[in-house]
Amino acid sequence: MTRQRQILLDLIDQSGKHLDAESLYQLARAKDPKLNRVTVYRTLKLLKKGGLVDELDLLHYGGDQHYYETRAKQEHAHIICLRCGKVEEYFGESLQRLRRQIEEHFGFEILLTRTEVGGYCPHCQVLRARELAHAGEPQEDSHNRRK
Ligand SMILES: [Zn+2]
Ligand SMILES: [Zn+2]
Repeated sequence: MTRQRQILLDLIDQSGKHLDAESLYQLARAKDPKLNRVTVYRTLKLLKKGGLVDELDLLHYGGDQHYYETRAKQEHAHIICLRCGKVEEYFGESLQRLRRQIEEHFGFEILLTRTEVGGYCPHCQVLRARELAHAGEPQEDSHNRRK
């Protein structure tokens, strides 16, 4: 395994978060200033192909970016707030149960699953309720004001 692959794999393994390619590039460069963006992006593709990392789009809440996480983690679902972008991880026996049921039902050998749930976190529900109440008020030009 080449040096840049090891650097990226370590970063992804240790972060425990879901980092996008650009963040990984910045972190990798801090460790090895010689790394360039093209190499980092290509290396991420290789790691994904080799089954070492998972590539997620997290419902594209942040645009076109993809996010990377280690495959060493136990299977989990991603719960994404579509307003603030907060990502929670749900580990639960029900995920394994669903997997077994699908395998039985379709006689399918599952290699990977991806469960993503989008919505509003408790904090954003409060903010949204406030926004909606605001939008209902007369003579307020809320659209222009927020931009
Ligand atoms: Zn939120
Ligand atoms: Zn995750």
